[in-house]
Amino acid sequence: MYERYQLDIDELLERGRTEPCFICHIVARHPDYPAHIVYEDATTVAFLDKYPPEYGWTLVAPREHCEQITGDFALDEHLELQRIVYRVSESVRQEVGAERIYLCSFGRNQGNAHVHWYVAPVPQDKPFLEQEPGIFNSNILRIPEEDQASLATRLQSRLQDL
Ligand SMILES: [Zn+2]
Repeated sequence: MYERYQLDIDELLERGRTEPCFICHIVARHPDYPAHIVYEDATTVAFLDKYPPEYGWTLVAPREHCEQITGDFALDEHLELQRIVYRVSESVRQEVGAERIYLCSFGRNQGNAHVHWYVAPVPQDKPFLEQEPGIFNSNILRIPEEDQASLATRLQSRLQDL
């Protein structure tokens, strides 16, 4: 399948602390922050993870720069975001044939603060001891851009029926 490379996590964390919010830049379609968009509406965006430990990893985020996953949302706004998380998760699960989907929200207030959910499919052949939490690692798949673009298109299509 795809070869892997070791992500320089220290460099990535430093960029998260010192550079502008990458999600806001993706929402704004900044040319320095290209992304494979999977879903977008007036309040939410979903795009493929740029550094995926497994095929199909996707992020779901509010378009607005919110930092508190509950505190910055009214309940209905939060539940609406979760509806999109559900739909994206199910489209990913179906498309990549995941054994399981992990959902989590990371981020740090000092960097990568913009609320985002990881939709993290676990492949069928992932050894038991390499699943949670070890699947969240910096051993990243080198997926060609054309493959990511194709995956994003297929996920967009599935999302229309969910
Ligand atoms: Zn932001």
